[in-house]
Amino acid sequence: MNWNLSNKLYKEACAFIPGGVNSPVRSGKAVGFDPLFIKYAEGCRITDEDGNVYIDYVGSWGPLILGHSHPQIVAALKQAAQRGVSYGIPTRVELEMAKKVVEMVPSIEMVRMVNSGTEAAMSAIRLARGYTGRKKIIKFNGCYHGHADSLLVKSGSGLMTFGIPGTPGVPDEIVQHTISLPYNDPEAVLKVMKSAGEEVAAIIVEPVAANMGVVLPEAGYLEKLRRICTEYGSLLIFDEVITGFRLAPGGAQQHFGIMPDLTCLGKIIGGGLPVGAYGGARQIMERVAPSGDIYQAGTLSGNPLAMSAGLTMLDVLSRGEIYAQIDKKNSHLCAGLEEAATSAGVPLTVNRVGSLGCGFFTKGPVVDLESAARSDTQAYALFFREMLKRGVYFAPSQFEAFFVSAAHEYEDLDRTIQAAQEAMKVVGG
Ligand SMILES: *Cc1c(COP(=O)(O)O)cnc(C)c1O
Repeated sequence: MNWNLSNKLYKEACAFIPGGVNSPVRSGKAVGFDPLFIKYAEGCRITDEDGNVYIDYVGSWGPLILGHSHPQIVAALKQAAQRGVSYGIPTRVELEMAKKVVEMVPSIEMVRMVNSGTEAAMSAIRLARGYTGRKKIIKFNGCYHGHADSLLVKSGSGLMTFGIPGTPGVPDEIVQHTISLPYNDPEAVLKVMKSAGEEVAAIIVEPVAANMGVVLPEAGYLEKLRRICTEYGSLLIFDEVITGFRLAPGGAQQHFGIMPDLTCLGKIIGGGLPVGAYGGARQIMERVAPSGDIYQAGTLSGNPLAMSAGLTMLDVLSRGEIYAQIDKKNSHLCAGLEEAATSAGVPLTVNRVGSLGCGFFTKGPVVDLESAARSDTQAYALFFREMLKRGVYFAPSQFEAFFVSAAHEYEDLDRTIQAAQEAMKVVGG
């Protein structure tokens, strides 16, 4: 296996694109490997410019729950493109999409389409502040809600991977109303609410934190957040950009049986195209312009290409068949990874829910940012490179999830486990 063409393209890209990539997490810096350049993908496999083939567990960072180049989605895109790629005038497919989201996601009565998860979270925060007339928001350490200014405080994902605490370019004044607290610690939330509850517009949370690796909510945690928000008149925002349509047709809120006031969606909802959405109770959503006074807009929002891909995706998912299957597949994979680590004497903590998982190179348990950060990132980097050599692509960071899709067959999982057994032996020395 060689990476001559990928390396050449990367070198050239670095002269034209900052760091050679259009999003920091794609860089291989954290794992000591220059990024692959991908030429082609189908099912659970990606092929790079040099012709190397890998079983892919990144899935474009979450959207591709049905695998790459799903025939129905590709067909929907071709058909839509022939009718014109964008009008900026309403279309039938936008209405169908909105109805589908309302049908699938329990707490959503009205929904607004945007172009990314970042926009979804940023807009939901603005709506929560406008609706409540309050300024403060509570978020949690290690939760990522996109790169809007007010949410870039102790975020996970790329900032965590590269050890960036916050970022230049965001004035202190802008984040002075953002309070970041430890995940899975309801007492910390209560303490803040007791002193400043009347000023808190919203608590925004990833119902399963999936941007510091994967961290599950402890039993009762989300219920407590729900109760606290109701008591203090703050809105509960579930950022379901990863969990939406992944843990269940109705996302984490359906999986855990908890109703947030607002929900942010992204990733899967676009079927691989750039889409985000936010929605919730009619009474709140009606405050969004033009029916209400809280402004939010988008030139390409709800464009027919993205809506066609997304609607086709949701049509398949709403049949519900794949969820038990991918859950079982991921359980098989995780058991294999754990066993590979154990037999090589490598400490590994696997956190998993449904088709979402992460293997932390630490003894665990991993329940928040602090415990996630105890992971041996050098061990992960070595594991990543050893897996890559064996034709398996995991995320180039310890603090990102892996995603099992409907396109992964047991044969692929077993090949992955076999590779992991060898890779873990190298890691274990
Ligand atoms: C990916 C992600 C976002 C940001 O979405 P983009 O489409 O990258 O802007 C926001 N919240 C969560 C939970 C995410 O995983």
